[in-house]
Amino acid sequence: ASIVITIDGPTASGKGTVAHRVAKHLGFQYLDSGALYRLTALMAIRTGVSLQDEAGIAALARTLPCQFQHGHVLLGGQDVTDAVRAEQIGVSASQIAVLPQVRQALVELQVSFRDGVGLVADGRDMGTVIFPDARLKVFLTASAEARASRRYKQLIEKGIAANMEDLVKDLTERDARDSSRATAPLKPAPDAIILDTSEMNAEQAVQQVLEWYAE
Ligand code: C5P
Repeated sequence: ASIVITIDGPTASGKGTVAHRVAKHLGFQYLDSGALYRLTALMAIRTGVSLQDEAGIAALARTLPCQFQHGHVLLGGQDVTDAVRAEQIGVSASQIAVLPQVRQALVELQVSFRDGVGLVADGRDMGTVIFPDARLKVFLTASAEARASRRYKQLIEKGIAANMEDLVKDLTERDARDSSRATAPLKPAPDAIILDTSEMNAEQAVQQVLEWYAE
């Protein structure tokens, strides 16, 4: 099986940016596992399946008609790149992510990203559940304030209205839900290296991960 680097961590810790750049640097594939939970939530909302309907949502997840093309995300052939990043979809994603059948339904799809040269996978349980044999496991974290202000900047850059107070509240609630759920809670794998990026920019974090990988 090919080499895997996992980058797990809380919401808006910068794992997406770091994982994507590390993958590019090494010529590896990239898996944004959060996008799969987001796509499942979006699909449920669009098809009118209740977010509490565990079996119904698991069925959607099992046959998720999604494609990843050059930084674009397609759902049923439709470009949902922006829709899937919406804050509300992140909240809905974290609600369905507590459902064990939904998590189970997404395992195969996540594992299928591991082909060819290597994979950088980001999420919450990449190192603990999906790729326990990863070569390098990083747990990326940052203070709630640092994470909220990064998310704020991203949203404003995209022309989306945002407010710091709401963002801190959303992040804190989402972290609490992700950390307290019974199945695959957010926590570092026993063999993960913790990287606190509160005082670091993305490039410094990328260099640190590449350094650990080279060791
Ligand atoms: O990382 P992102 O914010 O896109 O993830 C959205 C939600 O999906 C998270 O808040 C989390 O509840 C869930 N998720 C998960 N396991 C993963 C990735 C994401 O439970 N591996």
